[in-house]
Amino acid sequence: MGYGEYIRVQNMEELKYQVDLLNAMNQKLSKEEKMLRLICETSNSAFLYYNYEEDRVQTIANWDHFFDFAITDMHDLSRLYECVEEKYVIPLEEILFIERQGLKSQTIDVKLRDRRICIEVEVNVVYDALGSATDKIIRFKDVTKINSQNDELTYLAYYDILTGLYNRNYFVRLLGEYLRRAEEENETVAVMFLDFDDFRRINDGMGIIAGDELVQLFGQYLSDLIGDNIIISHFNSDIFCIGVYGPCGARSVETIYKTISERLKKPFKLSNGQEIFITVTVGVAEYPEAASKTLELINCAEIVMFKAKSTGKDKVLYYNGTILDDFLKNVKIENKLKDAVFQQNFTMYYQPQFRTNDKALRGVEALIRWKDDNGKMISPAVFIPIAEKSGAIVPIGTWVIEESLRAFAEWKRKYHYPMVMSLNVSAIQYRQPDFIDKVLNLMDKYDVSPSEIELEITESILIDDFTEITEKLVLLRDIGVKISLDDFGTGYSSLSYLKGLPIDTLKIDKSFIDTVITDENTRIITESIIYMVKKLGYETIAEGVETEEQFRYLNEIDCDNIQGYFLGKPMPSEKIENLLADMTA
Ligand code: C2E
Ligand code: CA
Ligand code: CA
Repeated sequence: MGYGEYIRVQNMEELKYQVDLLNAMNQKLSKEEKMLRLICETSNSAFLYYNYEEDRVQTIANWDHFFDFAITDMHDLSRLYECVEEKYVIPLEEILFIERQGLKSQTIDVKLRDRRICIEVEVNVVYDALGSATDKIIRFKDVTKINSQNDELTYLAYYDILTGLYNRNYFVRLLGEYLRRAEEENETVAVMFLDFDDFRRINDGMGIIAGDELVQLFGQYLSDLIGDNIIISHFNSDIFCIGVYGPCGARSVETIYKTISERLKKPFKLSNGQEIFITVTVGVAEYPEAASKTLELINCAEIVMFKAKSTGKDKVLYYNGTILDDFLKNVKIENKLKDAVFQQNFTMYYQPQFRTNDKALRGVEALIRWKDDNGKMISPAVFIPIAEKSGAIVPIGTWVIEESLRAFAEWKRKYHYPMVMSLNVSAIQYRQPDFIDKVLNLMDKYDVSPSEIELEITESILIDDFTEITEKLVLLRDIGVKISLDDFGTGYSSLSYLKGLPIDTLKIDKSFIDTVITDENTRIITESIIYMVKKLGYETIAEGVETEEQFRYLNEIDCDNIQGYFLGKPMPSEKIENLLADMTA
């Protein structure tokens, strides 16, 4: 082989070697490329590669998933701006060309227009040793699911789903911030605690779904009132809370309440076409007057709201110190009352009633007394209303009737004195389906006849359940039980409406007797009441007669009976026996 030949062969071998090497490298490269492509394609992302030197663009992997156009030139990138929601256009442009700011890497989230896809755009630029950009890789990744999950979680953390208003927790946080700011700026913060009236009846009547829709419509209406320094929350069910920083002017509680009341003059229209009117009751408490802590402030407003409901609905009531004191006292009493029912810490007192003309004993009114564990007497005027609210009045009331009839039977057996036992009965008791049976059974048990019993009712009982209760009264009266109208003069007291009532006796309230001597007008009213009542055929009793002067005057104007400290305070059974002994001596 000559040199030339040798060189040629050498070159051939070299060439072959080179080709083999290239083949090997190619094979390796295609394996790597395949691997890289697989990685890209399964990544749920699309890539755009740009080589600066060659000014070459290439899109890789799932490009079609995001965009329906190809990019062959860097100028085509502007087509991306048309795909994203408007607010992302400028940030996107900035990130696509981060090399202009000399940056290496950056990421943003953008939302695609029309389709609700959210993509993460990540841009990486590679620089050479001299700081010139050589390659750029842009990655588009679908993060719709992750973002919507995050959004939902964020939403649930702050908002109430039904109304879109703040939820309770977030409201409490924001209100806490109001309070901190108010302390610094020496401002006030008002909380309005708002509750639908009779929501249970609406819910029962129309179903929970309609009830929810109503709450939703009202919540949507309230959201119109949100503004600078006004936050509104839906706590739950039919309860809403409004927080006002520095209430005054258009932001005053009065104005807000008035605005809401005006709206409620119109009905809410449900999707089934039904139109519903509602009223609301609002309790208001202000920082720092009512409380200095967030939760306490909300609590105060809630207590005020309850107080407002107990004195009639559809109104706004403002915090004052006594409301809270009363509430705390009531809570304590309610707890003790529960025990008292079981431990029977009650006693009966009886207050004598006398005929005015001859001071003969007409009967007694049974008045309950409660000695609490510490031996303190608690007035029935305080605990009866609480017992009525909690339902404890039912067992207590039954006990009152039984104990009184037991004592009455004892007096009858010992003294044979004809008299009447007056019993106070609350509306809750009358409402019990077995009330009449209970009374009849006890009368039977103690051998007391109907005409020896008088049940006292107040006008307020009749206002709430007129038909139901009058029906029962008529039944009782047919049997021969007397019915007496208590506290006359404190309620409606319309004489014309008296005519329709099944009553035998009318008790003129102490407030009349208190001023009957000193006030000419009271005298005129009292005299005409007695005149009218006698014409209607009822017996009269004046309550709270404390002085001889009152007694003499009442005798003069022909009031049939008197009851009061002047002739006898409420007393235990033994003292009544002394009285009976005198009467029968
Ligand atoms: P009421 O039915 O109007 O009873 C009359 C109240 O006036 C009694 O108060 C009596 O002690 C008081 N009183 C009577 N004469 C005078 C007087 O001359 N001067 C003054 N200052 N007060 C006088 P009490 O015993 O504290 O009862 C308060 C209220 O509690 C009663 O008012 C009645 O509504 C209710 N109550 C009492 N016992 C019962 C009961 O067993 N059941 C029910 N449901 N309520 C009861
Ligand atoms: Ca009474
Ligand atoms: Ca009374």
